[in-house]
Amino acid sequence: LGRRINGALSALNRAPTIDDKLLDAMLKEICTALLESDVNVKLVASLRTRVRSKVKAALEGDKGREAQRKNVVQKAVFDELVGLVNPGVEPYKPKKGQPNVLMAVGLQGNGKTTTCTKLAVYYQKRGFKSCIVCADTFRAGAFDQTRQSATKAKVAYFGSYTETDPVVIAAQGVDKFRKERFEIIIVDTSGRHKQEKDLFQEMEMIGRAVQPDMTILVLDASIGQAAEAQSRAFKESADFGAIIVTKMDGHAKGGGAISAVAATQTPIIFLGTGEHLSDLERFAPEPFISKMLGMGDIQGLVEHMQDIAQQNPEKQKEVMKNLEQGKFSIRDWREQMGNVMNMGPISKFASMIPGLPDMAGSEDEISSKFKRMIYMTDSMTGYELESDGLCFMDMEKDGKTPIRTNWRAQRVARGSGTSVAEVEEMLFQYRMMANMAKGAGGKNGWLQAMQKMQ
Ligand code: GDP
Ligand code: MG
Repeated sequence: LGRRINGALSALNRAPTIDDKLLDAMLKEICTALLESDVNVKLVASLRTRVRSKVKAALEGDKGREAQRKNVVQKAVFDELVGLVNPGVEPYKPKKGQPNVLMAVGLQGNGKTTTCTKLAVYYQKRGFKSCIVCADTFRAGAFDQTRQSATKAKVAYFGSYTETDPVVIAAQGVDKFRKERFEIIIVDTSGRHKQEKDLFQEMEMIGRAVQPDMTILVLDASIGQAAEAQSRAFKESADFGAIIVTKMDGHAKGGGAISAVAATQTPIIFLGTGEHLSDLERFAPEPFISKMLGMGDIQGLVEHMQDIAQQNPEKQKEVMKNLEQGKFSIRDWREQMGNVMNMGPISKFASMIPGLPDMAGSEDEISSKFKRMIYMTDSMTGYELESDGLCFMDMEKDGKTPIRTNWRAQRVARGSGTSVAEVEEMLFQYRMMANMAKGAGGKNGWLQAMQKMQ
């Protein structure tokens, strides 16, 4: 999906000028890709209308430069895609020092039991005393499954081989763990009944018995167009406040899950990306879309850097401080590139870096490209390094609209033994990353949001 949308956007980039026909062709390609990935038809139609009107509004009367017009289109598409997975609702945030009861609901086979253990491990790692209550009495062997995976994960668990009423087990387990001062108490439910009505009734009763702080709908990424009806039905009887989409590692197209977000106005909080206990990723709209479009994976990059920088906490603090403030000079960018180069094979990380989407190639090729970018920054003055890159541009009379690169870019190209075109590309890549950093930073940025999310 991402590749096709990205392809449509690059086709637009390659075209000399944008006109309505080209815009329509691009929108058609993007919408077809979304539909084939099982995103709901109505959502796709409204995305198309909104992108078109955003682009119209932005370009009205403005004969701005072609590159900027393309930026407008790209940004409109990006923002609308983010909008699809961002209901603008804050999920519940577990608090330390008190019991937080989480309840997992969803049809059997969606990955509830697996996800419950992953969640317990996730929170345990972050200092929450965590446990699991198995309230699935429907499926034979359900308690054994919980027992095995919880034991493997070294997480406390509760269940019963003899009690057949899931409501009784849930109430007993949550009660016991509350008394024992557990902080994350996860209730796993069955997701299956002879009659759908019975299932929903069972969930309502368990919900009343344990009073969850957050009910989580666990959805299989491959659910397709059925996602909308299913999530609506669950929303009515088990008013969930968060969604976890599992099996994102498979061939699933994931579009159904997107439709579920829109249908229920509920945020996705995690993605399941495999069968192992550690295969759980926090979800945030912007980084997700950026990654999907091959526009870089800042979240992954930051996480990798955090791992690497454990040996050098001081430096890491600086990087994070800059990112949090949304400040991102060329010097910061160079710093990041340097870090990336120290992280191991660059080919492994290139795709995570905004602005370097298609940097496919051998390790040597990529590494030499990186080195050339570093040489360019070596040829810059302190003033240029501290800048946001605009000093490399000649401006329109308004002083805001860049027209072309100037003598500074020529000097850098000469000094580093590269070409002006390469310097322009480097500046473009810096800008992409700076834009992501700006979106990430600040009080309302997703970086803060994700840190608060725990
Ligand atoms: P439940 O019936 O909802 O409790 O589902 P389970 O937790 O028992 O999972 C059903 C199957 O899906 C199991 O074989 C899991 O290993 C598998 N599964 C769960 N989550 C993921 C995931 O994120 N990726 C993959 N590949 N498999 C998963
Ligand atoms: Mg289960």
